[in-house]
Amino acid sequence: MFRFSAASKSAARTHVRHYAADFPLLDELFPGTYPRLLVEGDGTDLIDSEGHRLLDAGNHLGACVVGHGRHDMAEAIAAQVRSMEFASLEAGASHPYVAELALELAGRVPVDDAVFSFTSSGSEANEVAVKIARDYHRRRGESGRFKILSRYGSYHGSSYAATTATSIPAFREPFQPLVPGFVSLPQPFPGFCPSCSFEEKSCGESCFEQTAAVVEREGPETVAAILAEPISIPGAVKVPYPEYWPRLRELCDRYGILLIADEVVSGFGRTGAMFACDHWGVRPDMLTMAKGLTSGYVPMGATAVSRRIQEAFEVSPLAHVNTYAGHPVASAAALATLQILDDERLVENAAAHEDGLRQRLEEIGDETPWPTRASVRGLLGSLEIRLPEDADAERFRSLLWHESYEHGVVLRVTRGGQTVSVFFYPPLTITGDAMDSGLGRLAAAVRQVVRATAEGSGADDAARRTERLP
Ligand code: PLP
Repeated sequence: MFRFSAASKSAARTHVRHYAADFPLLDELFPGTYPRLLVEGDGTDLIDSEGHRLLDAGNHLGACVVGHGRHDMAEAIAAQVRSMEFASLEAGASHPYVAELALELAGRVPVDDAVFSFTSSGSEANEVAVKIARDYHRRRGESGRFKILSRYGSYHGSSYAATTATSIPAFREPFQPLVPGFVSLPQPFPGFCPSCSFEEKSCGESCFEQTAAVVEREGPETVAAILAEPISIPGAVKVPYPEYWPRLRELCDRYGILLIADEVVSGFGRTGAMFACDHWGVRPDMLTMAKGLTSGYVPMGATAVSRRIQEAFEVSPLAHVNTYAGHPVASAAALATLQILDDERLVENAAAHEDGLRQRLEEIGDETPWPTRASVRGLLGSLEIRLPEDADAERFRSLLWHESYEHGVVLRVTRGGQTVSVFFYPPLTITGDAMDSGLGRLAAAVRQVVRATAEGSGADDAARRTERLP
């Protein structure tokens, strides 16, 4: 096991940029406690430097599908390092590891006769998709088709085009000016467009009419692609109404627009289907993936492109070079992940947990005195809690993350205004008992933070209870 010194904790704090952590607030609430050091993974659990065992219901950010610390994954990766750790795809060179992976993926991905550009992350996979979309139209003599349409409330990554496609002001505003030619479309889930509220029951017809209206207003002959996650997750697990994706496909076909599905989070079984597009039988022109592709054991992403699009690149390849494209060790990790997903029927397991997860999140929401909304597909679930105007929502968010950890569950808690969103998405290997136990712990944490917040004494109460870890 990795040996860490006592200095690790302070070095993590002083020498490493962490995202989504407000250390000054955490210090004020829980002096000397943060950052927590996670040092070991075991199945659905993570173990911290103090020996506390935690259900990983979201620390992995959607990457972990086959579970942590697996010896079969370790062996596949180690064998690849021993035989050939790295060779690039430069000029005429290739290797069988990436070729085997591409064949395996081609049989699974809902893209016609797919060709893969391998990358090191989901952001880069989206970057490549945007480049391909623009270059594809240019090569066919339509260089006026350059606009990329994405949706309010969607996240597509951290590189510049992906940041520009991310229609969430907090991720975009600090980095202006962004990439030209990006336009926002409605998000098919209530509460995420500028003119729509959390209380509305469904978006339905009007959302789609607005989507088509934006395309027509922009001029369909100027639109290169629509980039969208089948199920978008910032703020909530935003499951669209059933007709949305088939209609989006029709709209793209009508105007010669490419449809790019960002399955970086939803791919590889997370939503109870191998890819979320499969829920609606939709075949995009491009599909981007990462995270579950290697279950997070080694970083890797990919952009799958249909043969029809690829044909435009047969004479001269896309001018996007990346040293680690198709990295042999990542390829081995991806092949092992696919094998485990099949052997252990993990996609089916994700689907089987959907109803129970929804019911439990709804019950947890019903226990709070405030409006809540649970949303679930497969093993991807969220509970939004709408706090009263006078509540300190940022403090609530920090307390809830902390209390969940204290109860033995590590998950994601985010905030948009007065809405705090808790996400619950454990590895797909989870059993019914572990689900019950994890959700029971989350329920206890929510109850405690809600009570403390309603009584206005949250910080002090929570700070006193740091001894309860299993
Ligand atoms: N697309 C979606 C839907 C994501 O959720 C993410 C990351 O969370 C990305 C793209 C970016 O992936 P990465 O962080 O690997 O660059």
